[in-house]
Amino acid sequence: MYNTKFITENGKDIYPGYLSREQRALIREQYMGKKGYMRCACRPDAGLYYKVSGDLKIYPEHNGYTHDRYCCRYKNLTGSEQQKPPYYVGEDGEVTVFTSVDPRRFSRKTDSLEKSQQYTITLDEECAESEDVLIGKDDPQKTVKEPQLGLDGLVRGINVDCFTEKVLNGKTIENRQNFSTYVYYRTKKVKLSRNKKAIGDLTLEKEGVRFMYVPFAGICQSRNQDFSKFYMQTISADGKMFKNFTFPEIAENAVKKFRKQYGTDPDSNTFLAGFQYIKNCTVPWKNKSNNNTYRVLERV
Ligand SMILES: [Zn+2]
Repeated sequence: MYNTKFITENGKDIYPGYLSREQRALIREQYMGKKGYMRCACRPDAGLYYKVSGDLKIYPEHNGYTHDRYCCRYKNLTGSEQQKPPYYVGEDGEVTVFTSVDPRRFSRKTDSLEKSQQYTITLDEECAESEDVLIGKDDPQKTVKEPQLGLDGLVRGINVDCFTEKVLNGKTIENRQNFSTYVYYRTKKVKLSRNKKAIGDLTLEKEGVRFMYVPFAGICQSRNQDFSKFYMQTISADGKMFKNFTFPEIAENAVKKFRKQYGTDPDSNTFLAGFQYIKNCTVPWKNKSNNNTYRVLERV
């Protein structure tokens, strides 16, 4: 198990990544003037003590601690840090995720439906979970293995992260809508290692892409002249039903994957999670820019 935890002198577990400023201030106040009140949980007997400073950050009480190899505070002899897990909640509360998916990779240049559909082939590859992706191709001697998450792994990470935060901070999850709103705010702290922007801050207007994590409400099809269009329906925060355009194979793939994983069809407990793109393509049935959506389903 990868350790991020502290233990206080009265035996309470503390996960600094989920501590708000108010909570940090409370700990500081509670232990004002005291030493050795919070130790790293990787080696409880070693007494690796930490404290909350005036700027509400967490600092070691001494230098030269030797943490367990699987501790987020571990540093090797050269002082470099241990490889972080692919979904990493930092001590400051910022989340970094190493992914094989680049939400911004799909350019807005797609100018025909054929091309859009070519893209759907690459999507499947992107969804594949890659635990060990080789980087540093230039120097094979120095090849580093860096774990990365596909879209599935990213969404799963967000699920667990949001749920953990809620539980640790004594918040209740009332319903899907409530959790979806919560995820929306949480993703404003979640950054992909490859992008500077938090995924919750990506917008269709600026980046041409946004992250969605919303209650799912079924798939519908509509016929329009010669074309059959697919939509994935979702429910917005104010309870309105939305139709999100998608390609049939995207919808089918998502449902297939869902069935394989959960042995059931997506239902009223299901979330729809993924990235929605805006494309400036000329689609036969529309003159204006069109939203093409590419998703994968996950359940909480
Ligand atoms: Zn430690």
